Amino acid sequence: MDYFIKNQNLTEDNLKDDLFKDSMCLAIHNKLLRKAAVKEIDAIIHKTIMNDDVPSYHDEKVERYKFLSALLKQITHNLDRDFISPEVAKKWLKFLSVTGPSATEKLDFETSRRIISEAHDILGSRFITISGDEPFLYKSDGKNLIDLFEEFNDMFFLVYTNGTLITEGLAHKLADLGNVTPLISVDGFKKETDERRGKGIHTKIIRAMKNLREAGVPFGISVMATTRNTPILLENEIYDYYFKKQGATYMFQFQMMPVGRAKNETRLMVTPEQRFNLYKKWGKLLIEDHYPVADFPNSATLSDGCMAFGRWNGYFYIDWNGNIMPCVFAPYYVDNIKKLYAEGKTLADGLQSAFFKNGRQWQKDYSFDKKHKENLLMPCPVHDHYKSFKTNIITPDIKDEDEQAEAALHDKQYEETFINYEKELQNLTLRLFEERYVLRMENVSYE
Ligand code: SF4
Repeated sequence: MDYFIKNQNLTEDNLKDDLFKDSMCLAIHNKLLRKAAVKEIDAIIHKTIMNDDVPSYHDEKVERYKFLSALLKQITHNLDRDFISPEVAKKWLKFLSVTGPSATEKLDFETSRRIISEAHDILGSRFITISGDEPFLYKSDGKNLIDLFEEFNDMFFLVYTNGTLITEGLAHKLADLGNVTPLISVDGFKKETDERRGKGIHTKIIRAMKNLREAGVPFGISVMATTRNTPILLENEIYDYYFKKQGATYMFQFQMMPVGRAKNETRLMVTPEQRFNLYKKWGKLLIEDHYPVADFPNSATLSDGCMAFGRWNGYFYIDWNGNIMPCVFAPYYVDNIKKLYAEGKTLADGLQSAFFKNGRQWQKDYSFDKKHKENLLMPCPVHDHYKSFKTNIITPDIKDEDEQAEAALHDKQYEETFINYEKELQNLTLRLFEERYVLRMENVSYE
């Protein structure tokens, strides 16, 4: 979310704009004038994005605007229903002006604290994603995540969670903090979620959503798309259920990538055809249904391509051992944060390996900040361009996150799966990409 805001120049300068700020305040606090204020905000977002001179195709800008517009609409709807407290919304407004990359996980408290502090002070980041196991279980040296949220109260935290620990008390604590949004994992409806996560989990998730609504904390839904649940994600019911009925404010879909422990689960990876259908569905959800959904990696038009490798306005990933990786779906690293600290270095040094530089160069050659971009419907250097990843990005000094990651690099069948996937996806998507984004041909629908 923060990327879209920053990249559209909705930055501090713009937000100092009196009209924008006044409209935001009105939209949050004045129910009677909310509708008019939101219309004004929407117009400002539209103008800012469409007039932006960042190299982009016209329809990329349209999709970025549509995503933010849908997000604004959903926030407004949830404010109207008292599912988001005005006090929390006011704090969110503060975070619109500051952003940056980073991600962290279950490290000891002092290391986590230092990473966040350096992300803030050195990288200028104001946005941290926390994931892995169940973050709300995290405890280290008698401290937990709440201590981090309290200390870094000018940063915004997105927490991937199974939701089961979000009690009324925790929901109210998050409302008081105002700088946290839980992103709750589901796999579909009750049936699919309980099948994957255990009987009764979906009921607990629904209870967590109720607690968050009553406390006024905006939350999102995270779904991993696989060959199994894609049919559900291609219908509207699931979006109506979580947005309209449960009050979610946004939704992230991640397509399952067979890495790490899931290396041998290539059969769960959505097929090229399913992926293309998910892309078309995503377009319709934004343009016709106005649901703020981002599908990774199908929504690369929102982020100017791949955001990994610590790219400007992008992100990188630190696992629980402190290994600094380009992305949660690219399980390779050169540097380890604890080792860097022991050597008197900082987080910034972890972004300077040849491996990371190669990744950023690949992004630049492919799409990032580029006028004539390659096919944005297949933006992933790891997943969609595996051969190139192995040849042009990986360096001899990389280490594997685990045995499966190492095995994958030497597995010819694994490589072939990705090479075939790339060919098939290119055949399916290239024409649409060129007609819609490059040539701007009229009447290219999301059908
Ligand atoms: S490496 Fe692939 S999955 Fe990771 S951010 Fe880039 S496009 Fe997305």
